[in-house]
Amino acid sequence: MAENIKGWQRTSRCAEIDQGALGEEMILMGWCHKQRDLGGLVFITLRDRSGEIQLLIDESCPAAAREKAALVRSEYVIAARGVLQKRSSPNPEMPTGNVELLVQELRILSQAQTPPFYIEEDVKANEALRLKHRYLDLRRPDMQRKLHLRHKITRLTRDFFAQAGFWEIETPMLTRSTPEGARDYVVPSRVFPGSFFALPQSPQLFKQLLMLAGYDRYMQIVRCFRDEDLRADRQPEFTQIDLEMAFVDSEDVLRVNEAYLQKLFAEIAGVSIELPLQRMTYAEAMRRFGSDKPDLRFALELVDVSDLFMESPFKVFSTTLAADGRIGLINVPSGADMTRKEIDSLTEYVKTYRAKGLAWLALEESPRGSLARFIDQDLLETLKERAGAKENDLLLFVADQEDVTLEALGQLRCEVARRRKLIKPGDFKLLWVTEFPLLEYDEDSQRFVARHHPFTSPLDEDMDLLEKDPARVRAKAYDIILNGTELGGGSIRIHDEKLQQKMFALLGLDQEEARARFGFLLEAFQYGVPPHGGLAYGLDRMVMLFTGSSSIRDVIAFPKVQTSACLMTQAPNQIDPEQLAELGLAWQEEEGSLPDGQ
Ligand code: ASP
Repeated sequence: MAENIKGWQRTSRCAEIDQGALGEEMILMGWCHKQRDLGGLVFITLRDRSGEIQLLIDESCPAAAREKAALVRSEYVIAARGVLQKRSSPNPEMPTGNVELLVQELRILSQAQTPPFYIEEDVKANEALRLKHRYLDLRRPDMQRKLHLRHKITRLTRDFFAQAGFWEIETPMLTRSTPEGARDYVVPSRVFPGSFFALPQSPQLFKQLLMLAGYDRYMQIVRCFRDEDLRADRQPEFTQIDLEMAFVDSEDVLRVNEAYLQKLFAEIAGVSIELPLQRMTYAEAMRRFGSDKPDLRFALELVDVSDLFMESPFKVFSTTLAADGRIGLINVPSGADMTRKEIDSLTEYVKTYRAKGLAWLALEESPRGSLARFIDQDLLETLKERAGAKENDLLLFVADQEDVTLEALGQLRCEVARRRKLIKPGDFKLLWVTEFPLLEYDEDSQRFVARHHPFTSPLDEDMDLLEKDPARVRAKAYDIILNGTELGGGSIRIHDEKLQQKMFALLGLDQEEARARFGFLLEAFQYGVPPHGGLAYGLDRMVMLFTGSSSIRDVIAFPKVQTSACLMTQAPNQIDPEQLAELGLAWQEEEGSLPDGQ
């Protein structure tokens, strides 16, 4: 029978006791982590979200307490009244390891079955089992630390932006399709059979409308939904820290956010960030690092050497150049010691990024490598100078179409940095990448798509290219990058109805289609729109970085697995025929439609 806590009030959490209060009476409550019965002497490790403390029940304790202590098993919920005393054999591993509670009275508040896995810091159980019993997994100190840090981040975020004059305003979850370009999650309407709400991919349109409505500075910590095939760092529902400001230019948005990031890093990671943050245009990031989210914790910059191989006897290089391709390299300092096997495996690595191969040159006394016989002394000197290379360095070359060369080398530099341990642990490198292309050409649909979203403003100086050469138009868009990962991104928006119409036209949306999808926005734009812009951070990713988690599931209390299913609640689930009928829906049986674990 479960007892209750009648008449008792917990005096503190287990590890938050005043350890100096020896001889004082305390009431503690929590889970039994471990019970050891040495016959006449029972030790119980009591656990709550603050940590653990030892309970001692010995012969001096009342008989009722001794009897109950013998019954306690792992994960029982218990309450203990006792007196704090010094531990005769302290445990230096435990923050409360110098003290223990000598129990006077014990209550068993709830019994527990043996859990399917042992609740411990370095859990050995597989993830599917942990997720099925997530409430047990969440008892682990590791998970509690991560969710605590998440709480600290959201709290700091709210405080910071509130102080900076932002109002937290909620936006609807049941809405129309929003423009982030992923597949929508939809919810059928009972009142309008055949019609559906979409869950928001972001509050983009609503936050813009709030600016138009005069709310000036908005923020929200908000759930967003995108029905995409999940990769390791994605979840179908994820959280954004979403911001929008009126009467601002990019500069103003960046400035507020830099102050936020400085505070965040100082208080959450104890890292001091110098302002202003480094900025780099998209074009420069691609040219120097082969990525629009460069990791600046190490150098290994890309070097373009196309002009040096125009006449090369090495056929692969000359034919690539003849076809308008590019030859680039990275210089691996002291890399000449790399084994053939390592170079082969890097070759396989670049192939996964569509590169045809990797050529190499080890700068030993007489250069060695697949390129060696095509390089004369002059060319060698020029190469060394351009790459800033010295004896015993290794040059790794990719020759391909420009985009392939850049991407393959960009990925290669990160892989080489990982393998050669060039990244200092605890190093944080933040930067803004700016001036992204406004549009991207989608080969499949043979038309332009918005790179960010259709409400992003072109750069003023590129406005006249909109008609002439849309591919070259740059946007007032910015991403904030941390250690090669995008933490967030945003833009200054179009606030002119005519320009917005033009943008829709460029994206191949005719007037009717634009009206059908975004009519309410276009209509609103006729009633006075302040210049505005904003940004959204991916909160989950931010917490991952600060907690050093390799999986996004580790920073979300109740996450989904790769198939978008929840192993604990077994959602999604089929609904009964009456409910379907009420929604005006019919179900067509299809094989393999049940989610994992069902
Ligand atoms: N709504 C955008 C996104 O989710 C962010 C922004 O432009 O503010 O990527």
